[in-house]
Amino acid sequence: MTIAPAGAEALALPFLSTGPKRLLIGGEWVEAASGRTFTSVNPSTGEVIAELAEGDAADVDRAVAAARAAFEAGPWRRMTPRQRQDLLWAFADAVQRDFEELRLLEALDMGAPLGRPRAKARTSWEASVLRYFAGWATKIQGETIQNSLPGSVLTYTQKEPVGVVGAIVPWNRPISNAIWKIAPVLAAGATMVLKPSEEASLATIRLGELLVELGLPPGVVNIVTGYGSTVGAALAEHPDVDKVAFTGSTAVGQQIIRASAGNIKRVTLELGGKSPDVVFADADLDRAVPGVSMGVFTNSGQVCCAGTRVYVERPIYDEFVERMSTFAGGLRVGNSVDPDTAIGPVVSARQLERVVGYLDLGQAEGARATAGGHRLTDGDLARGYFVAPTVFADVRDDMRIAREEIFGPVACVLPFDSVEEAVARSNDSPFGLAGGVWTRDVGRAHRLAGELRVGTVWVNTMLDMDPAVPFGGYKMSGYGREMGEHALDSYLNVKAVWIRTD
Ligand code: NAD
Ligand code: MN
Repeated sequence: MTIAPAGAEALALPFLSTGPKRLLIGGEWVEAASGRTFTSVNPSTGEVIAELAEGDAADVDRAVAAARAAFEAGPWRRMTPRQRQDLLWAFADAVQRDFEELRLLEALDMGAPLGRPRAKARTSWEASVLRYFAGWATKIQGETIQNSLPGSVLTYTQKEPVGVVGAIVPWNRPISNAIWKIAPVLAAGATMVLKPSEEASLATIRLGELLVELGLPPGVVNIVTGYGSTVGAALAEHPDVDKVAFTGSTAVGQQIIRASAGNIKRVTLELGGKSPDVVFADADLDRAVPGVSMGVFTNSGQVCCAGTRVYVERPIYDEFVERMSTFAGGLRVGNSVDPDTAIGPVVSARQLERVVGYLDLGQAEGARATAGGHRLTDGDLARGYFVAPTVFADVRDDMRIAREEIFGPVACVLPFDSVEEAVARSNDSPFGLAGGVWTRDVGRAHRLAGELRVGTVWVNTMLDMDPAVPFGGYKMSGYGREMGEHALDSYLNVKAVWIRTD
């Protein structure tokens, strides 16, 4: 395990040397009303890399007013679907053009490694999301409906943008977290106030700069950085916000629902998970071992749909634990800007403490760490927040490490004996975000796809995503869907029109 030469060139990014970052309100970059700022820390080194405006409720008021004004009248209102489509395409081109810079900001701000396969491919997944939703801007349509009224009455529906959206997102994939909201909001013709996570706001601010450069009308996308208890809470309860689109923890999701009651906001929630990944004895282990492992360790396990409860059919349990542990031990952990790094740090000192707390708890509960199980502090790693990819064997379903979302690189591996048992234990969770299945038996694959109570089932793969395929949770993993037409619809209202023609 080695570390890159501190990423000094990375820190020479012009974006990082232009002084404190501001809020985007009504097309202008402004300071927070309070004048306060907060800092962003590079989790690979513990160093402060930027200072940002700390917004609060007063800034949310200003931003919501700007979004309301842009929604009610002015150039955005007059833009045709075709113009919104073209704008989304131009945004996609800019995001692809600035791929390296955006990745670097993400790597420095929250630790996603530059060397991970998707970053290496130099093809922006977020640009493809923008292009997908660009296509929807020109395909929003209502329907003509036959009714049974006497006489002659024409009935049809039309879809209208929902209004002002408050989007509150986490830090685990800052560019995606932002674009998954921005793309359907703009396609639908709504306006928004976006609140990135206080842990990683830099890439989102850069996206805001790109939108301003592209000539997005003022007030359509506003960005208010700051803390959840202030900016987030103010957005969730704001009487002039029509919808809250939230991605984050289940506990905060519950607060969002309560806060939304004041003006009956529409709410969509992408929340936490503790996803099962079921490996049958007939699985191709050469694919299942790396697939299951990366389904847990990718992004240091800071993935909402990570397959962290690994159920393995008993005849192959010992072999699987051994092979997964070897795989985990071979992953190169290091500074996110080192191109050879497979696994970067966790996002913050607080997250490190939380994850290490679960590592200690797992051992106290009687689980056996067959890989990792501790923080990494060799050499320069001591400055950052690094956790060894961890495999826990001898886990029981009732242990807290097997029930609670850890959001770190920690796999719990549990043996099972029958299909029925695998299904029942997989479903025995308050969460229902995703599930994985590894088998060569087509019938069994379909059976589990039907019986797992989750929003996404992956068979012989993990974590695949596509802008056309809906993503979201069952149970306490939330409601509403991102991606696909479902996401677009969540930013549209349906209006019925009745016209008496006789
Ligand atoms: P979090 O819930 O702490 O914070 C998410 C966002 O909400 C942040 O912007 C935060 O500032 C804000 N917030 C915090 N308290 C708030 C409040 N009282 N009112 C309004 N907003 C508030 O989550 P996190 O630590 O940033 O992210 C990790 C969590 O997000 C995990 O549980 C993970 O599973 C989940 N997540 C889910 C998905 C998904 O699509 N289902 C994707 C990524 C992350
Ligand atoms: Mn940071």
